[in-house]
Amino acid sequence: MASDKTQKPASGLSPMMQQYRRIKHEIPPDALLLFRLGDFYEMFFDDAKTGSQLLNLALTHRNGVPMCGIPHHAAETYIGKILRAGRKVAVCDQLEEAKPGKLVNRDVTQILSPGTHFDAHILHAERNNFLAAICPVAGVVAAVPSGKSMSSAPETGATTPRPESARFGLALVDLTTGDFKVTELVTAEQLQNELARVRPAEIIVPAEWFDEAKALGISATPHDGWTFERETAFFTLRDHFKTQSLDGFGAANLTVGIGAAGAALHYLTQSLRRNTAHIHGLQVYSIADFMVLDAVTQRNLELLESPRTDRKHTLIGCMDRTLTPMGARLLREWLTHPLKDVEKIVERQGVIASFCEAPHVLAEFRERLRDVRDMERTLGRLSVGSGNARDLVALKESLAALPKLKKALGAVVGAASRPRSSEPPVANPVAAGRPLLQILVSQITELPDVVDLVARAIEDAPPLALKEGGIIKAGYSAELDELRGGSREGKEWIAALQQREIERTGIASLKVRFNSVFGYYIEVTKANLDKVPSDYIRKQTIAGGERFYTPELKEMEGRILGAEERAAALEYEIFQQVRDAVLDESVAVQQSASAIAALDVLAGFAELARHQNYCRPAVNDADRIEITDGRHPVLEQTLIEERFVPNDTLLDNTEQQILIITGPNMAGKSTYIRQVALLVLMAQVGSFIPAKSATVGLVDRIFTRVGANDDLARGQSTFMVEMNETANILNNATPKSLVVLDEIGRGTSTFDGLSIAWAVAEHLHNAVGAKTLFATHYHELTELAATLPRVKNYNVAVREWHDQVIFLHKILPGGTDKSYGIQVARLAGLPKEVITRAKEVLANLEEAELSAEGQPKLAERKQKSGDRSQKSEIQEPPQMYLFGQKPKPS
Ligand code: ADP
Repeated sequence: MASDKTQKPASGLSPMMQQYRRIKHEIPPDALLLFRLGDFYEMFFDDAKTGSQLLNLALTHRNGVPMCGIPHHAAETYIGKILRAGRKVAVCDQLEEAKPGKLVNRDVTQILSPGTHFDAHILHAERNNFLAAICPVAGVVAAVPSGKSMSSAPETGATTPRPESARFGLALVDLTTGDFKVTELVTAEQLQNELARVRPAEIIVPAEWFDEAKALGISATPHDGWTFERETAFFTLRDHFKTQSLDGFGAANLTVGIGAAGAALHYLTQSLRRNTAHIHGLQVYSIADFMVLDAVTQRNLELLESPRTDRKHTLIGCMDRTLTPMGARLLREWLTHPLKDVEKIVERQGVIASFCEAPHVLAEFRERLRDVRDMERTLGRLSVGSGNARDLVALKESLAALPKLKKALGAVVGAASRPRSSEPPVANPVAAGRPLLQILVSQITELPDVVDLVARAIEDAPPLALKEGGIIKAGYSAELDELRGGSREGKEWIAALQQREIERTGIASLKVRFNSVFGYYIEVTKANLDKVPSDYIRKQTIAGGERFYTPELKEMEGRILGAEERAAALEYEIFQQVRDAVLDESVAVQQSASAIAALDVLAGFAELARHQNYCRPAVNDADRIEITDGRHPVLEQTLIEERFVPNDTLLDNTEQQILIITGPNMAGKSTYIRQVALLVLMAQVGSFIPAKSATVGLVDRIFTRVGANDDLARGQSTFMVEMNETANILNNATPKSLVVLDEIGRGTSTFDGLSIAWAVAEHLHNAVGAKTLFATHYHELTELAATLPRVKNYNVAVREWHDQVIFLHKILPGGTDKSYGIQVARLAGLPKEVITRAKEVLANLEEAELSAEGQPKLAERKQKSGDRSQKSEIQEPPQMYLFGQKPKPS
């Protein structure tokens, strides 16, 4: 900003440039100012330089001032490009008609930012567009090592955030839907994980905390620190909600949460001058209610995205059967927020079961859902003033679909209240109370008056423009009908004029015409000018003749144009009245929309369960995961030539805590271990799962360490990334966690890798206690089972047949004692002598692995267990530092 020439003293600037300068001063410094000048939006000074580069526009100069412009009718496309580049846009409009010799009054009408815009080209129907505000607790600012959690405080199971431990407030606003949520977090890691789940389009933080946020890998925009202060923020919220306190939202105990929520609202209303009237409530949530899913695990399990780019290879791609944008958005939220509460999961299952048992109802309901459009975003656009008559019609059509939608559910709503004998027994059956289905259906409010009003007032297919007429139906307003009647009669009079004048003048080629610049006129060709009567007044000379008007025509023109102008203005007024009447019901519309979203997701789960033959898993708080004939939800839908081979799983904390899964490459190890993680996740989302039967003891967190991911952007080698992820698991997993490890220690030498893998497994067994699936090609690890009681070996069956290895994809008890590397080498055509010699060397290596007592040597300890204080005989490896990294005190 300092370099912007608009900062220079005003002397010598034209009045318009002084106006520009004043306005530029009033907007956030990082916003590009689009300044309306006639039919263009112009950018000046540094904005022009940035804009011309971003938008690929020619940079020109006027009186030495750099400028570039975009035509106003194409502004949306250009604004979209600026937002996509992560910049803000301030739109400055002319507030009055331009009059010669007078400076037009201009002001900023809205400021758009990546997290707060309504651009349909950039928004994804199936994704929320969140603005996030983070408020750190005072003092948190003190050095936080990058990527590390700042507190070792465990996640509590409490459902209400505990103010004494809250260190970060995180508020999320989706202006397009009116969603407003807030939570408080204890550790930086929790904050990072939550941001990875929600993926806000824009993040604001107090300016003073900007550098710390950056150190945590959070790319944010600094915002005035005082708006985050509790007092200010509290006032902002109370002022917005018109309430005495925030207790009604369950926000009474919040501390930093209030700071974040208040700052978010302040930013929207004050900095961006946006209308937030449709934000009716604040939803307080606690991450303790959800399974933890860090960014790594989300990526490894390919929940929302897959490196293969195709959505069908992701979990969301294979599970999404939603039919409304609201449902699609909620599905995304549910998949990234699996539940930890048996009761809530069973409630969701109950709805799916009701649908599955009444397939006709399911089909009818889903058919009706197709008539429901994006009610949330339509309402959002109407609320902030960017909605048009088509939005009203879209909302009306959605609302008109509700009676049939509710009727379609009538049959299952009654039935859902009775327990079903076919349901598997569950540990904690749903608490006595209304079943979820009934609650959701009761939250859908039919609004016949709104439907009727819009149907009577607004044309069924209105134009996009709001101020040019053609929006309001005939018969709705007597005043409008009269104005329209006046202009119609005038037009009829003019239409008849041509014939009358031809007869009066005898000029057969005489024409009565209209254009927007000259209005109505009578056109006579050169050859007939001598026949023009004396009452014709010349208006304009054209190539082939002359244009005239008569006093009578002039008067009629005034009547028509005046009536049309007044009619258009009246139509806009009526549109606003109808819109406001609809907005009076916005709370009911939002509630209906969110109930429909949940029903859409659950009906989608039912549809999926029926088509893919899923089962309803029994969920409980016990420590056992038992799956019979489980299938990989994504692979089973994408396999084309082969049939998917189902597999069983048994994991618990007493006998089968760690499963070592061995087998050659391509046998199906990775598929199997991810499959188990995905099935547990799906079960905790409340969905049915691809298996014959299953019992899932709920897990608090799924950890994954899969494949090789070079994080070159952060300058870390494959092996370093692998070890970071492993450290995260060993430090944070609990006995309630599910850990999925694919090939630990692959990124280093065999001995190094094998030793690390061995020690990791031991630690998981002895110290952590988490249920673990460990896929490895180190068949030596199968010897762990001989020394650790809760380690069990499994292998993926292969059959050798005519020099071929056939993959059976079946998981069987027992380890592999074979390194299939040599097998594969033989298949690849390595000379026979090489293969034979390799086998000899392998046998030598394996022999050396057994101790005198026949115990695997790998298991031996140099340091006696129980005497950890004794100095180890093994030397600590020397401390290493990454280039440019300062040694940290240990
Ligand atoms: P590994 O991890 O052992 O190298 P993968 O899990 O990557 O093997 O599996 C290799 C391929 O085998 C997969 O891409 C898939 O096509 C196939 N596959 C794996 N498991 C199964 C299964 N249970 N049924 C059918 N095909 C499978």
